[in-house]
Amino acid sequence: MKNSLITFVLVSMLAASCSEEDALRRAAATITADELRSYTMTLAADSFMGRKPFSPGEAVTVGYLAGELEKIGFRPAFGDSWFQSVPMTEISTRVDGPVSVMAAGRRLDLSAPDDIAIESPSQKTLIEIKDMPMVFCGFGIVAPEYGWDDYRDIDVRGKCAVVLINDPGLYTGDTTLFKGRQMTYYGRWTYKYDEAARQGASAILIIHETLGAGYDYSIPRKSSISSGLYMERTQGETAPCDVCGWLNAEAAAELFSALGYSVENLRREACKKEWHGFGMAAAITMKLENTHTRNTSVNVAGILPGTKKPDECVVIEGHWDHFGIGEAENGDSIYNGAVDNGTTMAWAFEIGEAFASLPKQPERSVILFFPTAEEQGLLGSSWFTAHPPVAPENIIACFNNDMMLPIGRMKEIMVTGYGQSELDDMLAEAVAKQGRYILPDPTPETGMYFRSDHFPFALIGVPSLFARGNCDSREHGKEWAAEREREYLTRMYHKPADNYYPSMDFEGISEDAKAAFEVAWRIATSDIRPRWKSGSEFANIRPVVY
Ligand SMILES: [Zn+2]
Repeated sequence: MKNSLITFVLVSMLAASCSEEDALRRAAATITADELRSYTMTLAADSFMGRKPFSPGEAVTVGYLAGELEKIGFRPAFGDSWFQSVPMTEISTRVDGPVSVMAAGRRLDLSAPDDIAIESPSQKTLIEIKDMPMVFCGFGIVAPEYGWDDYRDIDVRGKCAVVLINDPGLYTGDTTLFKGRQMTYYGRWTYKYDEAARQGASAILIIHETLGAGYDYSIPRKSSISSGLYMERTQGETAPCDVCGWLNAEAAAELFSALGYSVENLRREACKKEWHGFGMAAAITMKLENTHTRNTSVNVAGILPGTKKPDECVVIEGHWDHFGIGEAENGDSIYNGAVDNGTTMAWAFEIGEAFASLPKQPERSVILFFPTAEEQGLLGSSWFTAHPPVAPENIIACFNNDMMLPIGRMKEIMVTGYGQSELDDMLAEAVAKQGRYILPDPTPETGMYFRSDHFPFALIGVPSLFARGNCDSREHGKEWAAEREREYLTRMYHKPADNYYPSMDFEGISEDAKAAFEVAWRIATSDIRPRWKSGSEFANIRPVVY
C-alpha cells in the first residue's frame, strides 16, 4: 500500500513536471525570427523619428509600446497606467574664465574643456570656488569587503577630491586585489562621483588615463561641453558634488610635478592597502554658471500578474530611447536605432509573448519594462529602481539587453559581468541545451556591466543578467563575428546608418530570447531566489532570503 502510494506520487510528480517542461517548450517555440524582424522593422521605421525623449518621436514610440503590451496580453504595470513619469533636469554648464590652481606657490591655468572637463550636476545656478583646498584620495574607493578605504584619516568636507580612475586590480595585475583586470564597480567614474559626495567633498576631479577609463580623454571632454540630463533627486538623497570632472593626463602630470610628485609613482603607491591620501599643497579656483531646464519623459511597462505571488516579479527590459533627428550623414538625418535598441525591444516582446502563451500562468509576475533615457546615463531605469511598482526586495531577477546584433546563430552567449550571480549558472544550463557555451565578457576592464540598464537593479541588490550571443558564429566562426561587430561599431553605432536592413538574420537573437525565457520561467514558476556570488560588490546590499 505504502509502496504503491509512493509510486503513484512519484509518477504523478513526473507527469506534472513533464507537462510543465512541455509547456515551457511550446511557449519557447512562439519566439520566432520572423516576429523579431517585424518588431525591429517597425521600431526602426522613420515614423518613429529616432525615438528621442522630449521629441515628437517619444509619443509615437511609447504609444506603440503600450499598444503592443496590451496586444500580447499584459496589463499596465503602474496602477492603471502603462507609463511612469521620469522627471529630469537638463543642466548646461558654462565655465566662466580659466580654472586656476595654485600649486606650491605656482599658478597653473587650466583651460576647459582641453585640460579639464567640468560638469556640474548641481541645482545652483552660480558656483564660485575660490582657493578650495585639494586632497589626493588615491582611487577614491571605500570597499569594506576588501578592507579598503582611500578616505581614511583624511577630511575632504568642502574640499576638492582628486582621484585615480579604475581600481588597483588593473594596475598591479594582481588577481587577488579587487578583481584583477576585471573592473569592479569601484573603478567606475560614477561610483567615484557618488563616493566623493558621500564623503562631503564639494568638488571631485578624476585623473584621466586611457586604459583605466576604457576610452580616451575626448569622451569626457565632449560630454562636458554638451548639456547633461540628470534624474531629479528625491528628498534625503545625498546631494552631488557641485563640480564633477576629469583632469587630462598632461594637466595632472604638470600639477603633481609642481608639487614634487609623479602620477605614476602615486598610482603605484595608492595600490598598496596601507597607503592613504593626503592634503595637496594646492588650491583650485573657478566660476561656473548653470542653466537648468526641467522636462519629463516616460518609462513604459506592462505586467503579467502572478497567480500565487503577484507581488514578486522578474523583469525583462530593453531601453526604448535613441538619438532622434540630428546631424545628417550621407543624406540621412534620422537616427533610427534598429540595433540600438530595436532588436532588444523585439527580444523583450518575444519573451513576454512566450509567457503570455503559457496554458498556466506562473506563480510570480512578469514585468516587461522599456526604460527611457538610457543613452543619457541610465536615467529611466534608475528612476524605476528608486520608485519601483513592487517592493525592491521582491524583484527576484532582472534580464536586460542592449545592442543585440542580428547576425545569425552563435555558438556562445557572452555574459557581461560574468561571475556576479547564480543567474550565470542557470543560463549555462539553458544554453547547453542549445549546444552553446558561456563566454565571459572578453574585455571586463571596460566595466560594461556598469553601463547598461540592469545596473541600477544591481545597485538595489537585484541579481541581473546581461547576456547575448555576440562572438562566435555557428556558421562563420569568431573572426567573422568580430568583423561584423567592428563593422557595426564603426559604420552604424550611434549613427543614422543604424537602420533596419532586410539582410539581418534574427535566428541568433531568437535563441538568446529562448534561453532568457527559460531562465526567467524557472524563476517565475518557483521559489528560486538567485543569489549574488561571494565576492560580488552587490552581495551585501540586501539581506539574503531563502
Ligand atoms: Zn543602447
